[in-house]
Amino acid sequence: MHLTGFGGALRRRAALLGRAFGSTSGQRRNAVAVMVGLAAGSAVALTILAKPPQPPEQDMALQKLASLPLTEIERKALANLAPPEAPLQALALPLTRVSVEAARPMIIQRTVSIAPGDTLMAVMTRSGSDRTTAHAAITALSKVYNPRRLRPGQELTLLFDPRRQISPDGPEAGKPPLIQLAFTPSVEQEILVSLNERGRFVSRTVDKPLETRLHRADGNIDDSLYLTAKRAGMPAQMIVELIRLYSFDVDFQRDIQVGDRFEVLYEAIYDERGELARYGDILYAKLHVRKTDLPLYRFALADGNIDYFNDKGHSVRKALMKTPVDGARLTSRFGRRKHPILGYRKMHRGIDFGAPRGTPVLAAGSGVVEVAGRNGGYGRYLRIRHNGRYKTAYAHLKSFRRGIKRGKRVKQGQIVAYVGSTGRSTGPHLHYEILVDGRRINPLGLKLPTGQKLKGKALARFKGVRGKTVKQFAETPPLTRLADRR
Ligand SMILES: [Zn+2]
Repeated sequence: MHLTGFGGALRRRAALLGRAFGSTSGQRRNAVAVMVGLAAGSAVALTILAKPPQPPEQDMALQKLASLPLTEIERKALANLAPPEAPLQALALPLTRVSVEAARPMIIQRTVSIAPGDTLMAVMTRSGSDRTTAHAAITALSKVYNPRRLRPGQELTLLFDPRRQISPDGPEAGKPPLIQLAFTPSVEQEILVSLNERGRFVSRTVDKPLETRLHRADGNIDDSLYLTAKRAGMPAQMIVELIRLYSFDVDFQRDIQVGDRFEVLYEAIYDERGELARYGDILYAKLHVRKTDLPLYRFALADGNIDYFNDKGHSVRKALMKTPVDGARLTSRFGRRKHPILGYRKMHRGIDFGAPRGTPVLAAGSGVVEVAGRNGGYGRYLRIRHNGRYKTAYAHLKSFRRGIKRGKRVKQGQIVAYVGSTGRSTGPHLHYEILVDGRRINPLGLKLPTGQKLKGKALARFKGVRGKTVKQFAETPPLTRLADRR
């Protein structure tokens, strides 16, 4: 049990409450003594909201108060008690003038954090809740949040109301009943499980206000895009995202030259305290590589899908063709199969397309020819490198198209070779492989976005977004310049 709350907000809250009820340990001990005197056997309170006797209607109002989110309690309770700026002496509980009977402890707040191997039940009973009430609260919580998702280190705030009574005969008699369980599983949400007027626990999630701000980074690429963007103040995860977005157009190991440039506009999400909570999307980026500008804009399609488009409204994420041969039929899938020549079961790490000898084979994507020649059981073999991650390979070819050799740049859909039956093959077919990070994966299972081109209304809407984005970029000061000003 400790006094740190949900980060800064609760620490501030604890500090405020500490001031309101006596910030010295002696004063707090006195307050605790009053509490313990009233509810014998109860666990030690962390924060006690003690008040002089209340008329019934005020009592009701306070009870209502206890079921509100913590911030509300904090605000209203503090407003009722004393301004936080007031001198400490004036705020200290007038213990000498309040008899023990007259003091009415209202709400006890405890903040606990989940330890490794803890269950929610264990944490709650350890913090002073009786098992029956804890069970009812956990059941209500399960409707909005799976308690198994709670991780060690997660802080929970529990509110107890000592004026309520747990059955006086049971082993847990005298414990102040739990009235609320609250925690913040993410920066966006707070979860509250509170006792309602009918004595039942109800759970709800409260969305926390977040603010999206735009961050801009730009500069000349001195070494790698990664290092340059890092120096420009861009977080690693956003740089990785940027590289991923360009991976179909730019081969980052080869295309980037000294003097190339980049610019990026991306979202940063701030919480209600003005602290950076997480990053959002890249809204705009432009790379100047191979003497060409490659801009891209984030655009939400009518169906809600998000994609990135170039100036003309063409999707920048180009799919690799799944069938790089015309009029072919799939004859063998990816996976374990009995090998037609070797006889035993063997993993087939590509897919086969049956097609007449001499059928043109197309480059599945734009890129550079990496291998074009004999390659053992593959026979005549062609491999194209599309970017730092993706390669495609074509085997058992009859021949290569004229001019196709190592180092040759090819475009998606261009004829690069012809179907044959060279190497370990039973008849004319194309054996096709897609390699991702050097691993052969199932081309049929590969989820690649389609190379969409915006038209009509979508294109008109895109142009609006594009114009707005360009303006936003121009109006956003670069991060490095912001840092200089501080
Ligand atoms: Zn094959």
